[in-house]
Amino acid sequence: MSGRLAPSPTGELHLGGASTFLVAWLEARSRGVPLLLRVEDLDAARVAPHAEARILDDLAWLGLAWDGAPARQSTRGAAYEAALAALDAAGLVYPCDCSRAEVARIASAPHEGDEVRYPGTCRDKPRDRAFRRAPALRFAVTPGALVAFVDGLRGPQRERVDLRAGDFVLRRGDGVFAYQLAVVVDDLEMGVDHVVRGADLLPSTARQIALARALGGAPPAYLHAPLVVGEDGARLAKRAAGVTVRDHRAAATSPEALVGELARRLGLSGGAPTTPAALLATYDRARLTRGPVRAWGPGAAATRDLTQERAG
Ligand SMILES: [Zn+2]
Repeated sequence: MSGRLAPSPTGELHLGGASTFLVAWLEARSRGVPLLLRVEDLDAARVAPHAEARILDDLAWLGLAWDGAPARQSTRGAAYEAALAALDAAGLVYPCDCSRAEVARIASAPHEGDEVRYPGTCRDKPRDRAFRRAPALRFAVTPGALVAFVDGLRGPQRERVDLRAGDFVLRRGDGVFAYQLAVVVDDLEMGVDHVVRGADLLPSTARQIALARALGGAPPAYLHAPLVVGEDGARLAKRAAGVTVRDHRAAATSPEALVGELARRLGLSGGAPTTPAALLATYDRARLTRGPVRAWGPGAAATRDLTQERAG
């Protein structure tokens, strides 16, 4: 039994990540279970130099301590390979040499956001055919299967995986394991039974539950923490300039001030400077806002008019 912090070292830690990690920390500590740290550095092309060290330093600065040595997805290829082999042996994997453009063209209309449903073009093609490019490996989703789960913040959720994503990718054509496979294998093997992560990952949860079950594992419980949006209310860009933990540190914001304001916007406190450890004493999941929560840059916290929004 454990929780986890799972940063992606693709850039600076922004307030979205800090917010999610604060909730994950409070959840694990309030349960009295270990909080593991897993660096999600699978895609070497997206890993930024020194980002891991800077994120870990930011977490320590915020007072978000974890237990044990960090695990790194980049070192766990053998575990993902073994899981892939087990799924393949069960007849749940097939190669797909469709290009991204082909999938986009033949797919039905995107479900929500930018997600495209793969219509199963290659599912019944012979495996020993000549491939037009190095094939990706896809998970053969059971048609019609409904995944139901209870989110710790958002309540009961139901989803047809075949309608959302279709047969999703387990390993890309370039050999990089897909996020979906890696996190499921990691959570099962690390004994993570309670996942706290950002609300932007809610759409992939049913997929991961289906995968965990196909691997013979018990899926963890999930809590999708409030989405953190930019100061203008728009989706926080990947780079999130101006609202990173480093921006605040550079402007001499104290960690207590940052944690206090974050906790206030999350609905957990009145906003006085505090520490995660002090917040733990009064932590009550029921007070957590569903979000979205607005990020703020250094200096903006003093003007508290653009504050937390309660939605849905
Ligand atoms: Zn295909």
